[in-house]
Amino acid sequence: MSGKIHRLDQFLMFRDIILLNVCPETKTCVYDCIYCPYGSTLTKVYDLDTVEMDFNIDNFASRYRDILSKISRDDLKYIVINGEGDPTLNPYLKDIMRIARSTLNKHIPLAIYAPGGTFIHSSIRETLLSAETIIIRLDSPDEKRFRSINRAHSMLRLEEIIYGMMEFSMEYTGILKGILTLLDSPYEYTSNVDKESMRRLVGIIKKIGIDELYIEGYIMDKSGAKTKMTHSDMIEIREFIEDNLSIEISYI
Ligand code: SF4
Repeated sequence: MSGKIHRLDQFLMFRDIILLNVCPETKTCVYDCIYCPYGSTLTKVYDLDTVEMDFNIDNFASRYRDILSKISRDDLKYIVINGEGDPTLNPYLKDIMRIARSTLNKHIPLAIYAPGGTFIHSSIRETLLSAETIIIRLDSPDEKRFRSINRAHSMLRLEEIIYGMMEFSMEYTGILKGILTLLDSPYEYTSNVDKESMRRLVGIIKKIGIDELYIEGYIMDKSGAKTKMTHSDMIEIREFIEDNLSIEISYI
């Protein structure tokens, strides 16, 4: 991706997209993915009632209004709710969505990064239904890799999450995008680029009914150090996915 990024307080402006970071610094997620760009998860949660986030909705609303007064709203094409963690864990998600839309005088589509673990909760699925785009994460083809790659909360089961995503997808009328992180590591359960894993992942993507897929990848060595895969490293996998799914695929 190229383009100028403007950092605006807890918001980022990238071309014609405004990104709202709704996760506070204390990274809260249901996962602790080995490749997470935000470092280790500090609070790994399962039960929505136990989530404690240092997030002030009134401050958020006034800072957002202030930012909007400084940019050209006419150029705005998308609002993305994301953050350094899982934005769907923010207890104010519904209010954030309402504020994001109501502050503007025209309808701007809303996209939400919703990695996946919270799709087991019907209340989260219901909240997400009104967003125009949902971006989910898929990189574990089986439970063992789910433990080693996503290092999910011990109460979470991959099968239940996939089921939750399928339930959501059946009702959802917006665009469902997926991010697939490819991992090539010397350790079996932190690698997902072998034929069997890819075959399973393609099956999961099909079952859920993803509309568009983004791929990125890392090569890990024995020490756990990661280097980004180049597009040519991913070409074979991309071709395999394209041969088995008729959806749009892009590199991140
Ligand atoms: S789901 Fe996203 S934010 Fe959470 S640990 Fe994984 S990569 Fe990081």
